[in-house]
Amino acid sequence: MAEDNLIEDEIIEEDIVKEKIVEEKKHTAFDKESWKPKTSLGMKVKSGEIDNLEYVLDNRLRILEHEIVDVLMPNLVIDLLFVGQSKGKFGGGQKRVFRQTQKKTQEGNKPHFGTFAVLGNGNGYIGIGYGKSKETVPAREKATRDAKQNIVKILRGCGSWQCGCKKPHSIPFAVEGRKGSVRIRLMPAPRGTGLSIEGECAKMLKIAGIKDIRSHTFGQTRTKVNLIYACFEALKKLSKIKVQEEDAEKLGIVEGAIGAQNEQ
Ligand SMILES: [Zn+2]
Repeated sequence: MAEDNLIEDEIIEEDIVKEKIVEEKKHTAFDKESWKPKTSLGMKVKSGEIDNLEYVLDNRLRILEHEIVDVLMPNLVIDLLFVGQSKGKFGGGQKRVFRQTQKKTQEGNKPHFGTFAVLGNGNGYIGIGYGKSKETVPAREKATRDAKQNIVKILRGCGSWQCGCKKPHSIPFAVEGRKGSVRIRLMPAPRGTGLSIEGECAKMLKIAGIKDIRSHTFGQTRTKVNLIYACFEALKKLSKIKVQEEDAEKLGIVEGAIGAQNEQ
């Protein structure tokens, strides 16, 4: 049965991809010497003139080379989001990392694989990216590169009036994001609430270093891609707002930091 073989192949391929991610995590040491930067920002980063990702983001310099992030933030955590589902009769509809689409041509159906990567340092930095290709591995690589170029620094704090502990375990104020018909509202939550939100969004928040959140979603939230974009939209709003010093103290607002996560 050709169809059954196809399903098996798909599962095997996904396992290989997962293994490769584990491998990559083992030797994340990025070879800086062999990197040939093409942009002026890239050259400054390689020469050591700029040694801080915070400086790059604060001055709104555009990151056009993903290697910049590799150099400036070596302790990145990378994860893939479930945006697809498997095909087939029996186990069909199960969650998959890759979203399969097909184009009909004269030679037959040409499959494409799309995937979402999310990365961050668990300490206020987060980026997401989408990659699509004829095969799974290049799709994942594209997504990871894209996510590195989209990295943002967000504010965390404790904006819950029930808690008021002034520690950065949640967000300082409510934010909203939308994409297509999907609207998502993230709200501060007291300590111990956990991530009360849809699973893929929870992954994103965890990688950003947020521990407690409450949320509301509106619209067709089964459209995972739109939900993910809306959630990232909302998180980005936490980076653009300027806060006054007294509020910053009252809500325990903390900016993203380069180092590893500190205990709260
Ligand atoms: Zn609190």
